[in-house]
Amino acid sequence: MPTKAFAAQSAATPLAPFSINRREPLPADVEIDILFCGVCHTDIHFARDEWGMTNFPCVPGHEILGKVTRVGPRVTRFKPGDLAAIGCLVDSCRACPSCKAGLEQFCHGPSVFTYNSEDTHSGGHTFGGYSERIVADQDFVLKVPANLDPAAAAPLLCAGITTYSPLRKWGVGKGQKVGIVGLGGLGHMGVKFAHAFGAHTVLFTTSRSKVEDGKRLGADEVVISKDADEMAKHAGSFDLILDTVSADHDLNAYLAMLKLDGTMVMVGAPPNPQPISAFSLFMPRRVLTGSLIGGIAETQEMLDFCGEHNIACDIEMIRIQQINEAYERMLRSDVKYRFVIDMASLKG
Ligand code: NAP
Ligand code: ZN
Ligand code: ZN
Repeated sequence: MPTKAFAAQSAATPLAPFSINRREPLPADVEIDILFCGVCHTDIHFARDEWGMTNFPCVPGHEILGKVTRVGPRVTRFKPGDLAAIGCLVDSCRACPSCKAGLEQFCHGPSVFTYNSEDTHSGGHTFGGYSERIVADQDFVLKVPANLDPAAAAPLLCAGITTYSPLRKWGVGKGQKVGIVGLGGLGHMGVKFAHAFGAHTVLFTTSRSKVEDGKRLGADEVVISKDADEMAKHAGSFDLILDTVSADHDLNAYLAMLKLDGTMVMVGAPPNPQPISAFSLFMPRRVLTGSLIGGIAETQEMLDFCGEHNIACDIEMIRIQQINEAYERMLRSDVKYRFVIDMASLKG
């Protein structure tokens, strides 16, 4: 099916209208008319080939929410008219140890990401949510709690799960001091979840203008990371720090905030390697690790948790024609706190 989309044709060209082909639904497939798509910083990294792995043309978008229009005969979990969502994954092998453990994002198969992965059905590579519609196997389609505003729920599919998963894995809860670095799309959800899980939540931001918002979103304290005196007060005191920063920054400054056996989890993905001093890791002993989105079952768990606790994203709605300007604003840390594309703008 010919499908309208927005694509980058090269790392140096802005996103512009493009036509892609979506497959006819296979027996286990769900076809979704996309209503909203969140704008993740990963979309910028890919559209500009900052990680050196982009297949062009690139149609980004992996925070997808819409209405089911058609289902294949084997589909049991969805029917036309249902609200449905797709995150960063559209398929995996289902048989490897990672898939069996519900960690499809680490499939040995490998995982089929929503965009930029090999498309095993249609050939070429997968195209994301900056498009009219998407077709995917029902096992990779999520249910959206009815009480959430659909536009504000869309970014949960990446910003939500990427922060929920590590906070759960490392058992964040009452009695713990948890730091979230960066108040962007991921960071603002990290603050909301750490607060909801009962941790003493501290936001590290470079932006003085975000202090009040940080507190409103759930931070008990906000530290301006450029202020050495403010930073020094928190040295050696954190159980866990979740780093969501998209650009070069000094990791050693945050490792120094961890207490003995404290853990720092990288989810932000600066394009360049960041230097680490061995002293940061053993004076005292500390752990540096990372986390990649989350598996499908955990993504559904996160959505259900958000439904129960009425948690969604703080968004600014844009038209698809504003996408290049939105990227520039994100690069200036000027987004409160996630852009969401109203996909009706692609049709009209
Ligand atoms: P975003 O909305 O642009 O937020 C990034 C935040 O980082 C900014 O708001 C800013 O916060 C801070 N920041 C930016 N430049 C900085 C600098 N030079 N020094 C210090 N802080 C800086 O981006 P996002 O969508 O949340 O994504 C963040 C990163 O996570 C990206 O690299 C993205 O690719 C990655 N990501 C990873 C996963 C995963 O599974 N691991 C999933 C999704 C995204 P302040 O203004 O508060 O300082
Ligand atoms: Zn993302
Ligand atoms: Zn697998």
